[in-house]
Parts: sequence; structure tokens; C-alpha cells
Amino acid sequence: ARRKLSSIRKVSAETRDGAQIELLANIELPEHVDMARESGAAGIGLFRSEFMFLGRDTLPSEDEQYEAYRRVAEAMKGAPVTVRTMDLGADKSPRWLSHGVADNPALGLTGIRLCLAEPLMFRAQLRALLRASLHGRIRIMFPMLNALPELKQALAQLAYAKEELRDEGIAFADRIEIGAMIEIPSAALVVGSFLKQVDFVSIGTNDLIQYTLAVDRNDDAVSHLYDPVHPAVLKLIAHTIKTTHRAGKTVAVCGEMAGDARMTRLLLGMGLRRFSMDPVHVLPIKQVVRNTHLDDVVPVVGRMLRTEDPDKIADLLDQLNAEPA
Ligand code: PEP
Ligand code: MG
Repeated sequence: ARRKLSSIRKVSAETRDGAQIELLANIELPEHVDMARESGAAGIGLFRSEFMFLGRDTLPSEDEQYEAYRRVAEAMKGAPVTVRTMDLGADKSPRWLSHGVADNPALGLTGIRLCLAEPLMFRAQLRALLRASLHGRIRIMFPMLNALPELKQALAQLAYAKEELRDEGIAFADRIEIGAMIEIPSAALVVGSFLKQVDFVSIGTNDLIQYTLAVDRNDDAVSHLYDPVHPAVLKLIAHTIKTTHRAGKTVAVCGEMAGDARMTRLLLGMGLRRFSMDPVHVLPIKQVVRNTHLDDVVPVVGRMLRTEDPDKIADLLDQLNAEPA
């Protein structure tokens, strides 16, 4: 099976009825760029930049970050490199950050909240990204947004970073695609309000499931309740995809759901055309895509979205996956 999968590395991710699907890779460190390149992915859909900030005693400088982003951008040779700004807090708290330990870290100062609370740290990253984008196709996306004002504040920091660079005579690429992560239910429900401000959105299903269902994504005691096909989760994902496409913008899923072959036809049937996943999943997912007829899956997914009965959803999911990939 391995030999057979590797034979589709170079062919496009296209459904049987000819829809082009974009499969991208998730990476955590600059040195993972080789895995992304070898995976058969068309680019990087999620670079979890905060991993560069962990396991060290000091904050990486703007120049150090610039070198790292530049290396990734160059290695990808013009293919997209989607860098998520640091998503620290919650489960990832570096030694050099001293915001105290909250009772409820998952509901505390994480993601964009922490970036906005530490504007100098945030702007150093944005400046590094703007400079590195001269060397490749970098996209920037903001994690853990909750509502439009946060997005506007993040964009104001980006505008400020550009202004600083201009004043200092430092070169950067002005036109850079900006995205919003949709991983809090409130953001999914108001995604329409984000779309004028951004070029794309990316659904972080790992957190979206956690926050929708109030189930800790890392707690084994409740892992049986962590359900990617809970009807409430499906409604939020479907709403996000539909609203974004209606506005003429691009939407991806970059949580684990995107790399789960059992979810591929479901997401395709919801209209998703961009998936970002761990590099090891790219070929298996490409295989499913190439063995899927959108005409077959769309009506079944329509029924999945109209019911709130988990048993019925489970049956319909089996039906979607009955024909092997
Ligand atoms: C997500 O929440 O789905 C996501 C992609 O981000 P992370 O897993 O890094 O929180
Ligand atoms: Mg997340």
C-alpha cells in the first residue's frame, strides 16, 4: 500500500468529478520544512510558530525569527507558507513569560489575547514575517480570535509594524495575505464580520471542538465526549465554510479533522477545498480525494447537517465511507 500511495505524490488532489483540492502541511519548527516538501503537499497551511518560542530561556529576537521564516519561505520556493502568530498560553507557557498561572488557562490569556497584551513581542514577530515575505509567499494568520475588535487590533499592530519598518528604511513585502483562525464558537458564528478584513480563514477544529463541547482536548477522562461529528460542531464548520465562500474568500480546515481520512468526504461535501494536516497524512487524504465523487457525497452530507440525532449522523458517516478509498 505504501508503494501505491507514493505513486500519487506528484499527481494533483482532484476528485473524480474534477474538483481541485488543495492539500497543505502543518509544521511546528523550521526544520520540518523538508517533511512538508516531501509529503506531496502544495504548501504549508499551518506553521505553529510558538514552538520556536518554547524550551528556551529567552525570547527569540526579531532577527532570529526573520532568519527562520526566511529559511522556510525560501525552501518552499514560492508555495504558500501560512505562519500562525505565536499561540502561547493555555497548554504552552514558556519560561520567559510571567503572566502567572490561571485557574482556567484554556479560557485565559492565550493566542491573540496574549499577543495583544504583549505588543512589543507581537510586533517583533510581525516585523520578522513582513521582512521574510520578500523571500517567499508568506501568509499570516491570527489564532484564537473571539470577535471582530480583536481582529482589528491585530491588524492595527500589523499596520504599525509596517509603519515602523518604513520609517526605519527596512525592506519588506507590503502585500501579504492575512487570515483569521476560527477555533472559538463565537468566532464561527460571527465569521461573516471578519471577512472584509481578511483574505482567508482557517478552521482550527481541535480547539473548536474543545470549546463547543466544553471538553478538554487533552483530558483522557472525557475523551469519549470529544466528538468531531457532534451536530453542533458540524453546524459551526458548515456555517463557516458557507459564509466564507459566499463572500468569495478561501477557507481551510487545519485541525486534526483535516488529516483524518474518515472525515475527508464529510468536509468535501460541506464544500471544503483546502485542507492542512500533519505531513504524514497528505498522501492518504489525497487517495480519498481522488476516489470521491462530489455528486455522491453532497446529498449525504446535506442529510448529516439537517439532523441533530448522533446515531443518524454516525450511520450517514458510515455510508459516506462505505466505498473504500
Ligand atoms: C486547532 O485548534 O485546531 C489548531 C489547528 O491549532 P492547535 O491545534 O495548535 O491549537
Ligand atoms: Mg488551536
